Amino acid sequence: MPTLKFAVLPGDYIGPEVMSEALRVLDHVAKKENLELSYQQADVGGAGIDHHGKALPDSTLALCREADAILFGSVGGPKWEKLPPKEQPERAALLPLRKAFNLFANIRPGLLYPDLTDASPLKSARIPDGIDIVCIRELTGGIYFGQPKTTVTLDNGEEQAIDTMVYKTSEIERIAEVAAVTARARGKKVCSVDKANVLETSVLWRRVVTAYFAKNHPDIALTHMYVDNAAMQLARDPNQFDVLFTENMFGDILSDEMAVICGSLGMLSSASLGTGKNSLGLPFGLFEPAGGTAPDIAGKGVANPCAQILSAAMMLRYSFGLAAVADRIEAAVRAAVATDGVRTGDIAFGRPAVGTRAMSDAIIARL
Ligand code: NAD
Repeated sequence: MPTLKFAVLPGDYIGPEVMSEALRVLDHVAKKENLELSYQQADVGGAGIDHHGKALPDSTLALCREADAILFGSVGGPKWEKLPPKEQPERAALLPLRKAFNLFANIRPGLLYPDLTDASPLKSARIPDGIDIVCIRELTGGIYFGQPKTTVTLDNGEEQAIDTMVYKTSEIERIAEVAAVTARARGKKVCSVDKANVLETSVLWRRVVTAYFAKNHPDIALTHMYVDNAAMQLARDPNQFDVLFTENMFGDILSDEMAVICGSLGMLSSASLGTGKNSLGLPFGLFEPAGGTAPDIAGKGVANPCAQILSAAMMLRYSFGLAAVADRIEAAVRAAVATDGVRTGDIAFGRPAVGTRAMSDAIIARL
């Protein structure tokens, strides 16, 4: 019986509420599929600060290092808002985790079921079949990390700030490979987004991506688009894309735009894959909902657990190689929400809304 060893980091506010439902679903699936789960929970974010004095306690990092994947909730909220920026839960927990595991590829499915198009700010006539795309963002390079990064005072007394955008071939090739693998399991169609009319890094990006696909994935249809156009096209006709991938800052912005057009954050999952392999020889990854800790609804038992459950499905697919089991979980969520019409408040649109537990009960019933 295969053992799935993962660290569980629920985090703050709704984090633990939705995480316990994802674990119920995983426990149920494990019984049905004859899988053994080995997971331990640890504090992170505000919970880490409150109980251990730091957003990413050493014991939590050690637990992650022993695991084959991390199932993450979300961190932060008003309770820790007054801390200096460097100690804020999100920055002091997520950034070191990304660094520790070299999580270089962020994969966000932009999925909106046809029955939920009311959740999208786009006119439903524009997306009659919902939305089904994937946005892949390079996560460890580019302008957020390039050096020099500094603010200096000039001779005339005014201040000048500098950020540096840097990419090298190997960084571009490895994210291109993630895009190709993702596209291969879908429509074999990839759009690489850059700003090659202005930026040196984008000129290199486009050249490396073109050569990489020509050599390694000639059967995948590759197109290129400037980022300003991509932002417009995403709002105009999102389904023209299948898989889009881009560098760090462009991806930060485009993936949030995609989240908005897909409606509720309560439905969107994500995966961040590392350069390292886990003990099964598969990519080590961190899997988390796209949204935050939703302090406005925390403690009321009304948060939508679907994003966390779908993140658990992504973990099974990427870090444990269980694509068929992941497919079954995703199908169960879709059936519960779209076919059975069981909805939490964020996706109810006039229907009676159910609570967090009833939503996961409906998903388990479908499984
Ligand atoms: P948020 O994503 O927490 O909430 C935005 C809106 O979406 C809220 O109205 C919320 O109720 C709703 N929402 C989000 N998830 C939901 C769910 N599962 N079910 C139903 N509704 C849901 O964004 P915010 O309010 O800007 O941030 C709150 C806190 O979360 C902040 O401290 C922020 O720093 C943190 N945050 C953490 C992460 C992370 O841990 N990766 C990501 C984003 C924000």
